[in-house]
Amino acid sequence: MGSDSCLFCKIVRGDVKADIVYRTPTLIAIKDINPQAPVHVLVIPTRHLTAARDARGEEGTQLLGRTLAFATEVATELGLDAGGYRIVTNSGADGGQTVLHLHFHLLGGRRMTWPPG
Ligand code: AMP
Ligand code: ZN
Repeated sequence: MGSDSCLFCKIVRGDVKADIVYRTPTLIAIKDINPQAPVHVLVIPTRHLTAARDARGEEGTQLLGRTLAFATEVATELGLDAGGYRIVTNSGADGGQTVLHLHFHLLGGRRMTWPPG
């Protein structure tokens, strides 16, 4: 399905160019256009869901699990296991979400701080 106006749906369809680092039939991993760490990859389900809160029921649970598991596989592929990394998903305005299509940020290559801003 997807949304005509959604940026990440456009990237999934190939209507907007992105630096796609990995692709499966149901997920893509792209380089963030405004990286906040030496490694900053977005792991995006090809299916349009607005945010994690919309992934409900058995199907939603599986999608969240698969997406998070894929993010850890990308981290391994990119050599982040030894140093560690952060995976985060922003949900809604208070979460700082700007693109309303579910995605996980994979950040690595520098020491993260806590709490986040
Ligand atoms: P969020 O603020 O959590 O919704 O994350 C959206 C992310 O998408 C931000 O980190 C942006 O830098 C990133 N972004 C926006 N447009 C693009 C694009 N065309 N290609 C890759 N990343 C993008
Ligand atoms: Zn979308």
